[in-house]
This record gives sequence, structure tokens and C-alpha cells, in this order.
Amino acid sequence: MENEDCIFCKIINKQIPTEFLYEDDQLIVFKDINPLAPIHLLLVPKKHIRSINDLEDSDTTIVSDLIMTARDMAEKMSVNKSGYRLFFNVEKGGGQEVFHLHLHLIGGWE
Ligand code: AMP
Ligand code: ZN
Repeated sequence: MENEDCIFCKIINKQIPTEFLYEDDQLIVFKDINPLAPIHLLLVPKKHIRSINDLEDSDTTIVSDLIMTARDMAEKMSVNKSGYRLFFNVEKGGGQEVFHLHLHLIGGWE
């Protein structure tokens, strides 16, 4: 399931110390190291899935958990009312640099 060369698997396994803003059985949430906005979170499933292209039919709960946790994190970070963006970069042409599925949450602009 995990990929030993994957930076996000290392974060999940606590081999790279990272503050988790949220964790449950399915996923973790932490701040992006190179933020594109005042608030920039990454929501990362614990299962190593390369990209959206590699989702299996049995992964639907992972996808719904990512979205529902994004909703909750937006409220926790107080950007739910002002607004925010959620996005997945898919493969190199889509801007993906870390090949372990993750949902970006950005917001907090004035
Ligand atoms: P993507 O381009 O969609 O693959 O996004 C990968 C994101 O991971 C980028 O926004 C990076 O800034 C972020 N990132 C890479 N390494 C780390 C790390 N160790 N801790 C937090 N964020 C990271
Ligand atoms: Zn991984």
C-alpha cells in the first residue's frame, strides 16, 4: 500500500516530522510547505494512490471523506464564509509534482 520513495507516505508514517491539523483512519491534513495563499492545506489519503487516474471503484469513501473533511477544515480555518478553492492537480501536465493523491484547499485572501 505505501510507497517507500513517496514523500507523502513518509509524512503519513511520521518519518518526516510534520504537524497534522487533522488525522483519522482515512486521511491526514497538513499545511503546504510552499503556500499559494494565506491558507493552503493538503488533504492526503493514507492509502498510496498515484493520482485521480488511479482511483478504483472501491475508493469512493476516500474521495467523499476528502471532500467532507475539506468542508470541515474550511470552517475550522474560518475561510468557509469568505470562500476558498479546492483542486486536484492530475499528472505532470496538470501540475502534479507529488504522485500521491492530495486535495489542495486554498483561501484566506483579503
Ligand atoms: P502538487 O503540485 O499538486 O503535486 O502539489 C504538491 C504540493 O506538496 C506542493 O504544493 C508542495 O509545496 C507541497 N509539498 C511538498 N513537500 C511538502 C512537505 N514536506 N510538506 C508540506 N507540503 C509539501
Ligand atoms: Zn505515497
